Amino acid sequence: MSVIQALTDILSPKNIIIDKGDMAPFLDDWRGNYSGAAAAILLPVSTAQVSEIMALADAHDLYIVPQGGNTGLVGGGIPDQSGHMFVLSLARMNKVRSISPENRSMIVEAGCLLESLHNLADEHDLHFPLNLAAKGSCSIGGNLSTNAGGINVLRYGNTRDLCLGLEVVLMGGKVMNLLTSLRKDNTGYDLKHLFIGGEGTLGIITAASMKLFPKPTARATAIAAIPHPQAGVELLAQVKKASGDIVEAFEIMPHDIFAIVEKQFPQLPCPLKPIPAFAILMEIGSSDPELAKPNDDGTSPITQKLEMILADAFETGHVLDAVIAQNETQRTAMWDIRENAPESTKRESTPVNTDISVTLSDFSRFYELASNNVKEIDPEVRICGYGHLGDGNVHFNVVERLGGDASWAQKRGAIFDAIYAALYECNGSISAEHGIGAMKVDQLAALKDPVALATMKAIKTTLDPKGLLNPGKVLH
Ligand SMILES: Cc1cc2nc3c(=O)[nH]c(=O)nc-3n(C[C@H](O)[C@H](O)[C@H](O)COP(=O)(O)OP(=O)(O)OC[C@H]3O[C@@H](n4cnc5c(N)ncnc54)[C@H](O)[C@@H]3O)c2cc1C
Repeated sequence: MSVIQALTDILSPKNIIIDKGDMAPFLDDWRGNYSGAAAAILLPVSTAQVSEIMALADAHDLYIVPQGGNTGLVGGGIPDQSGHMFVLSLARMNKVRSISPENRSMIVEAGCLLESLHNLADEHDLHFPLNLAAKGSCSIGGNLSTNAGGINVLRYGNTRDLCLGLEVVLMGGKVMNLLTSLRKDNTGYDLKHLFIGGEGTLGIITAASMKLFPKPTARATAIAAIPHPQAGVELLAQVKKASGDIVEAFEIMPHDIFAIVEKQFPQLPCPLKPIPAFAILMEIGSSDPELAKPNDDGTSPITQKLEMILADAFETGHVLDAVIAQNETQRTAMWDIRENAPESTKRESTPVNTDISVTLSDFSRFYELASNNVKEIDPEVRICGYGHLGDGNVHFNVVERLGGDASWAQKRGAIFDAIYAALYECNGSISAEHGIGAMKVDQLAALKDPVALATMKAIKTTLDPKGLLNPGKVLH
């Protein structure tokens, strides 16, 4: 019996795709940087089916590439071009197994879309705080496998911090049941952390137990112009202190990103005019009912609080101008600008994209060094270093000069090098939240501590001795 027939027997014909045209959406990445070919797309609907696939893979030396929502930005879920690999998509494993308001936790299958988990939590008057622009397409299995970050890390931590337990299928088909909802469980090595951020190289995550939080019933959101990135770093400390540490998001956005979003999406103008050199999109949030109760004049106490904080920051020179959302529509409009930043730069150009992090104390030094290095190559490029200042994580992206540049393709490599030169000087990380995937394998090999790298390889060999699981990703 052929392997395809055996897989069809496991899955049923409706859950395996072998037609080339139908495979296409699984074979290209979001940015268009990676394009692969596959022998088939496998769409299991249960852990038992994943287990059978992994047993067959081991027996017949089949290469398996796990995939969730295929929104990853480092080529981690895309097979190579050989056409011999099998994409194992978890998209149809999207059931909610249980939710417990009492334990503030939920057990969900890997293919559940992030946005559906927001809605699920909301239905139970709770909050699932992992939040990123790809929320309508990315899956919790992919979020776990990349240890995704997003806009609320500074308050709630990254995906790793939100996970209580996992169910994982290993190469060969064994199911590892780590699916606990316990908050404390010091029973030996905490193995779930191998698979979180493992980018599908060590096992297939089929289900996860995730933490839930009280719903922030009061929120205030603002866009504040700042004179330079260091003012943003200092403003963060001010806002944290004055708000009682309820900062949910703190995103830096430079002039050029506002201008590009406005150009690509005219319905999303920057609310500050003229567009400032730098601005912070910030949000504070609380479940304290006192902050949600409207004042007699109808104003919101949390909005007043943010107004006072920004007024003080204006006095100290950290803020030059600000606009505070007065209702949910205005708040959504502010976030729409931020969430459309990646799509806008993609439409505008083939940008140089990075996902770096530095300590907050090095943030402005990095930003200035990288900007200067890049401007030496071309003073007219548009620097779009935006993102999660609160975590020291900036997507220091560079877009070609307005009007286009015939030599842009040649400049891109030098611009990458210029940004990374600044990063290395500040001892930062080459991947803050997107992972290594296929994109940064060489960089990781060159930069990671050699003992750590050897330990990673030993773990990989233990769990996947034949190297069948997501080959070419993370490690050589
Ligand atoms: C517009 C946009 C904005 C984004 N913003 C952010 C952001 O703010 N923060 C951030 O961290 N990321 C961001 N991303 C990147 C991306 O959304 C995240 O990496 C996300 O976690 C990937 O989830 P996914 O389901 O799409 O995974 P995929 O892209 O399908 O896979 C990602 C990796 O995980 C592996 N994998 C997937 N599912 C499983 C599984 N069940 N078991 C084992 N391995 C698996 C794959 O093999 C691959 O290596 C953004 C992407 C886009 C397009």
